[in-house]
Amino acid sequence: MRKILVTGGAGYIGSHACKALRDAGWLPVTFDNLVTGWEEAVKFGPFINGDLRDRDALDRAFAEHQPQAVMHFAALSQVGEAMQKPELYWNNNVLGSLTLAQAAVDAGCKDFVFSSTCATYGEHDNVVLDENTPQHPLNAYGGSKRAVEDILNDFGAAHGLRHVIFRYFNVAGADPAAEVGEFHIPETHLVPLVIQAAEGKRGALTVFGTDYDTPDGTCIRDYVHVCDLVDAHVLGLNWLRDGKGSRVFNLGTGSGFSVMDVINAAEGVMGCPVPHEIGERRAGDCTRLVSGSVRARDELGWMPERSDMTQMIADAWRWHQTGHYTK
Ligand code: UDP
Repeated sequence: MRKILVTGGAGYIGSHACKALRDAGWLPVTFDNLVTGWEEAVKFGPFINGDLRDRDALDRAFAEHQPQAVMHFAALSQVGEAMQKPELYWNNNVLGSLTLAQAAVDAGCKDFVFSSTCATYGEHDNVVLDENTPQHPLNAYGGSKRAVEDILNDFGAAHGLRHVIFRYFNVAGADPAAEVGEFHIPETHLVPLVIQAAEGKRGALTVFGTDYDTPDGTCIRDYVHVCDLVDAHVLGLNWLRDGKGSRVFNLGTGSGFSVMDVINAAEGVMGCPVPHEIGERRAGDCTRLVSGSVRARDELGWMPERSDMTQMIADAWRWHQTGHYTK
């Protein structure tokens, strides 16, 4: 069976990617240090407990499994934390990715799919961000991801590493079969927090700022279902395997939802109020991040099918009712 090394395969998006890869005929080998991931989420292939900054551990993984490609999700990804402890982001995300890219090149494994972010774009006046929008990240999370994009470009020119870079917008939802889902401690992302607040599993949600230049004053984001997102990764892997060369793709739907839109949608799906209060802006937040996602549709043939907001909330809610990780 063809193998692929999946870093961060024990995390939210990585675990969904492993399921999609398994369904596409790959054996996903998860490499994860379990700092934010869960061993129970590794259900679709072997697991290696390792840190990306440990070159020896990576070399052993490449030697033992001989993967034909790498899918790199492992990263710290919280904007708030990145503002307070940028050193964690530069060290973990950049040094880890650099070590991984070097190990992959040295092992002769040259197809590399990387999870980047719309946070690399930063604040822009234009409504829709496409792949050519200049990147001016506002926080160390976006900065560290942009740095890894630069590393991959340089490794492409110097060492023949071929990459597909996906710049994610906001990922939400869960596997409809609830085999895997989103589970963070602490939870910081809007959709799971809204669900937990509605279920009374936490206090009122704090809306981070209502004085943004948007119709209702709250930040606008472009939400994409995790299953649609990982389907794009399988298409991106095929793109590389077909020899089509390095390429960057945004992954979003092109529709913007404010924080209040998400709260209202959740109230509709769940049939109960989402207790919330108005708070201060969160440092590092952009006003509006909405994708120009034409390229992924046109070139990869990507068709997001579950990224309707009510579907995403329904799938996330189902997972929250049935699935939890403990280790
Ligand atoms: N948000 C909020 N309250 C929260 C968490 C998030 O108002 O408790 C807002 C946040 O300011 C942003 C949006 O929800 O505008 C999405 O935030 P999230 O952390 O889910 O993703 P990000 O956009 O930071 O990647």
